[in-house]
Amino acid sequence: MCLWEVSRLLKLQHIRKQFDEKVVLEDISLEIGTGEIVSLLGPSGSGKTTLLGIILGLTDMDQGKILFNGNDISRVPMNKRGFNIVFQDYALFPNLNAYDNIVYGLRNKKGISKEEVQETIDFLELGPHLKKRISELSGGQKQRVALARTLVTKPKILLLDEPLSALDGVIKESIKQRIQSIAREFKLTTIIVTHDPEEALTLSDKILIINQGQIAQYGTPQDIIQQPADAFVEQFIIRQLQIKRQNIYQLFGAAHA
Ligand code: ADP
Ligand code: MG
Repeated sequence: MCLWEVSRLLKLQHIRKQFDEKVVLEDISLEIGTGEIVSLLGPSGSGKTTLLGIILGLTDMDQGKILFNGNDISRVPMNKRGFNIVFQDYALFPNLNAYDNIVYGLRNKKGISKEEVQETIDFLELGPHLKKRISELSGGQKQRVALARTLVTKPKILLLDEPLSALDGVIKESIKQRIQSIAREFKLTTIIVTHDPEEALTLSDKILIINQGQIAQYGTPQDIIQQPADAFVEQFIIRQLQIKRQNIYQLFGAAHA
């Protein structure tokens, strides 16, 4: 690995977060390399969105450090970090059309040309939908507009909170592939929150499994399948996937699985 790549690491060190009496994140440490897709996977309420908010700079942490490019950015405000997020509910403006939503974040940002915006629109195949109101878009189209709006700001890290959970099967797969090609094509480090083990294991290079605010396991899909770290990972990941496999066998027969 060259020096440049090393310096682009995102490092989280001993992150802790408490809301009132409740400890939501406890001693979270990990490293994410440039261009990697990492999923934060855990049941509802396990602290995933909180961790994403801490990385973004939206949520304060109580203890710990965040390093990016070798610099301590723990106290750097959100708008100076240069990361950007696609929120779970997309947070699109219903009174603006698709195009105006896409360029909204560029109001106060210089140096991004119309051609670059057009490239993103083409990449996400949004050309035919630009004039539409948000209420006229399908779920998949809304998600692509939300992705475009975030990508045009050229984030150094792309954060996505449950980007697939509101989408149906086939659309879900197509958005999944787009997220993968964005990460690959732009070498864009991408961190995705999900509660779905199949989604996490098929989408990401590495998965951080969180159980009640603590790291249960951090590894590649192979690591997790072959060597689940504890009984929680067994139950939450392996067992769920086995049930799915069983269902597919039942429907198609083992020969077609
Ligand atoms: P996840 O995204 O994994 O479902 P969250 O990070 O949203 O989980 O929440 C983790 C825990 O922290 C939950 O118990 C939630 O109720 C609590 N929590 C999240 N945000 C706040 C907040 N702003 N104030 C108080 N409690 C919160
Ligand atoms: Mg959440």
